[in-house]
Amino acid sequence: MQVREFDPRSLDKMLPCPFCGGEAELDTAQDYRAINGHFGKRVAVYCTTCDADMGTCVEDVPDIHPNEVIERWNKRHKDTP
Ligand SMILES: [Zn+2]
Repeated sequence: MQVREFDPRSLDKMLPCPFCGGEAELDTAQDYRAINGHFGKRVAVYCTTCDADMGTCVEDVPDIHPNEVIERWNKRHKDTP
Protein backbone atom coordinates (compact mmCIF):
# COMPACT_ATOMS: atom_id res chain seq x y z
CA MET A 1 0.00 0.00 0.00
CA GLN A 2 1.46 3.32 -1.04
CA VAL A 3 1.17 6.48 0.98
CA ARG A 4 0.19 9.50 -1.03
CA GLU A 5 2.64 12.20 -1.95
CA PHE A 6 2.76 15.14 0.35
CA ASP A 7 4.10 18.65 0.32
CA PRO A 8 7.54 18.52 1.94
CA ARG A 9 7.17 22.18 2.89
CA SER A 10 4.65 21.08 5.52
CA LEU A 11 7.57 19.52 7.39
CA ASP A 12 8.86 23.03 8.06
CA LYS A 13 5.53 23.88 9.67
CA MET A 14 5.65 20.94 12.06
CA LEU A 15 5.53 22.28 15.60
CA PRO A 16 7.71 20.98 18.43
CA CYS A 17 6.45 18.35 20.85
CA PRO A 18 3.54 19.67 22.97
CA PHE A 19 4.83 17.79 26.00
CA CYS A 20 8.56 18.42 26.11
CA GLY A 21 9.26 20.89 23.28
CA GLY A 22 11.44 18.33 21.50
CA GLU A 23 11.87 18.13 17.76
CA ALA A 24 9.16 16.31 15.83
CA GLU A 25 9.74 13.97 12.91
CA LEU A 26 7.48 12.43 10.31
CA ASP A 27 7.52 8.77 9.37
CA THR A 28 5.25 7.90 6.46
CA ALA A 29 5.80 4.15 6.75
CA GLN A 30 6.25 3.40 10.41
CA ASP A 31 5.93 -0.26 11.34
CA TYR A 32 3.45 -1.09 14.04
CA ARG A 33 1.93 -4.18 15.52
CA ALA A 34 -1.81 -4.14 16.02
CA ILE A 35 -3.45 -5.56 19.11
CA ASN A 36 -4.38 -8.68 17.14
CA GLY A 37 -0.70 -9.33 16.37
CA HIS A 38 -0.99 -8.18 12.78
CA PHE A 39 1.83 -6.02 11.41
CA GLY A 40 1.13 -2.95 9.34
CA LYS A 41 2.24 0.55 8.45
CA ARG A 42 1.14 3.87 9.75
CA VAL A 43 1.81 7.51 9.05
CA ALA A 44 3.09 9.06 12.24
CA VAL A 45 4.55 12.22 13.69
CA TYR A 46 6.62 11.53 16.74
CA CYS A 47 8.85 13.34 19.20
CA THR A 48 12.56 12.58 18.97
CA THR A 49 13.02 13.36 22.68
CA CYS A 50 10.11 11.74 24.54
CA ASP A 51 7.72 8.97 23.52
CA ALA A 52 4.93 11.21 22.30
CA ASP A 53 3.56 10.27 18.91
CA MET A 54 0.44 10.60 16.83
CA GLY A 55 -0.29 8.44 13.85
CA THR A 56 -2.91 6.94 11.60
CA CYS A 57 -2.84 3.34 10.43
CA VAL A 58 -2.79 3.08 6.65
CA GLU A 59 -5.05 0.04 6.86
CA ASP A 60 -7.71 2.00 8.68
CA VAL A 61 -7.45 5.08 6.47
CA PRO A 62 -5.92 3.99 3.13
CA ASP A 63 -5.95 7.52 1.74
CA ILE A 64 -4.49 9.15 4.83
CA HIS A 65 -2.38 12.11 3.80
CA PRO A 66 0.78 12.86 5.79
CA ASN A 67 -0.21 16.53 5.83
CA GLU A 68 -3.37 15.60 7.74
CA VAL A 69 -1.31 13.88 10.42
CA ILE A 70 1.00 16.91 10.64
CA GLU A 71 -2.02 19.21 10.94
CA ARG A 72 -3.42 17.11 13.79
CA TRP A 73 -0.04 17.12 15.53
CA ASN A 74 0.11 20.91 15.21
CA LYS A 75 -3.46 21.23 16.50
CA ARG A 76 -2.55 19.16 19.54
CA HIS A 77 0.13 21.70 20.28
CA LYS A 78 -2.36 24.56 20.18
CA ASP A 79 -4.88 22.67 22.33
CA THR A 80 -2.33 22.17 25.10
CA PRO A 81 -2.49 24.96 27.65
ZN1 LIG B 1 8.42 15.21 23.49
